[in-house]
Amino acid sequence: MSAIPMQLLSDNATVGPDGNLSVGGCSIAEIAAEYGTPVFVYDEAHLRARCQQAVAAFGHQQVVYATKAFLCKAMARLVYDEGLLLDVASGGELAVVLAAGVPANVCTLHGNNKSMTELREAITAGVRHIIVDSFDELDRLDVLAAEQLGPVPKVLLRITPGVSAHTHEFIATGQDDSKFGFNLGNGDALKAVDRARRSTSVELVGVHCHIGSNVFEASSFAKAAAVMADFAVPLDLPELVLGGGLGVAYIEGEEAPTIAHWGNVLLDACQALGVRSKVSVEPGRAIAAAAAMTVYSVGTVKHIPGVRTYISVDGGMSDNPRPVLYGSGYESFLPRAVTDERAMTARLVGKHCESGDVLSFAAQLPADTAVGDLLAMPVTGAYGHSMGSNYNKITRPPVVFAANGDARLVVRRETYDDLLRADIG
Ligand SMILES: *Cc1c(COP(=O)(O)O)cnc(C)c1O
Repeated sequence: MSAIPMQLLSDNATVGPDGNLSVGGCSIAEIAAEYGTPVFVYDEAHLRARCQQAVAAFGHQQVVYATKAFLCKAMARLVYDEGLLLDVASGGELAVVLAAGVPANVCTLHGNNKSMTELREAITAGVRHIIVDSFDELDRLDVLAAEQLGPVPKVLLRITPGVSAHTHEFIATGQDDSKFGFNLGNGDALKAVDRARRSTSVELVGVHCHIGSNVFEASSFAKAAAVMADFAVPLDLPELVLGGGLGVAYIEGEEAPTIAHWGNVLLDACQALGVRSKVSVEPGRAIAAAAAMTVYSVGTVKHIPGVRTYISVDGGMSDNPRPVLYGSGYESFLPRAVTDERAMTARLVGKHCESGDVLSFAAQLPADTAVGDLLAMPVTGAYGHSMGSNYNKITRPPVVFAANGDARLVVRRETYDDLLRADIG
């Protein structure tokens, strides 16, 4: 019923005397007029501020941005400029980061099924670390050692600690049912450490874990750190990476820990546990999610008396599949009426050819929401653009970085030619 809570908008979102929204000093209506809709609008200073908060909390080169959350060349350069490392989980992510001019030695390579080609590319480029996920990968690295592509790669081993932090709680699963990593419980983790230590194909520098995503309780990270510290402290390796996973508020009433609080809780726990390794983290969502909003145009408003109202916008599951994939909740509002009550409940849907194409199952919007209105959905900066698709041959939206009154196009809207570029008939 209430207006959109301003704390769900990015740091530099402001409402003018006429009620219209600006981000980074740029009018949302003007951005939409110039670049069309849908469009992802990132508050660039917000991104930088989150990077700076993370570096302040954990230290220079102890924060590894998980590029899968949101990646384009401008983003890769931004996080590099702010002193973060970059976690890539495929050859494609590595290629985009390198194309941005970011050096390979700030990149770490992840993945539970890295191909020989991806491993070869990473070693040749000279990535900082490879996070090894399986015995099969250690086999591949043995084969690649014979090719003498470069210096012996420094590796961390991904450990599955048998615990997970679900959004609001910490769960000791008692089992290690995961496609990722070496199981702690069944002894694989220790076997992998022994093998990597004896290997001449790799240099073991540490261990890694990732316990969950969109975690709201900072104490869950401390509990997971305790499990990992038990294993890692006796190994006495230089590096310990404790993953990402810090949650963000998507909808009214949610409250997530700050990056600073996460840092305090995690580093205090590590100190108390006797960890002497360099401790790093890999946030993705906490850096990028709240920095952006997606701006759509309303195309149809359909009232079905006694049933519900459907509002269709010009994007949908191709620019934000999270509601469909995970049932994730999002808010929405009108940039022309930011402080208005949102008295109408409607199902906010996209333009794809299926009923499941929902952006918000029960969106609150102003009662006078009409065809032609711009409609904004905040907190779409992570796992929106990056998980997007061309379903229905919809062209992917552009990405605009707004700061200091300047709206800079960093990814242009796709064209029909882009849809056909790989189609050689
Ligand atoms: C996805 C992922 C992250 C980032 O997770 P967020 O929830 O976005 O912070 C970090 N590390 C690894 C290994 C991941 O798979």
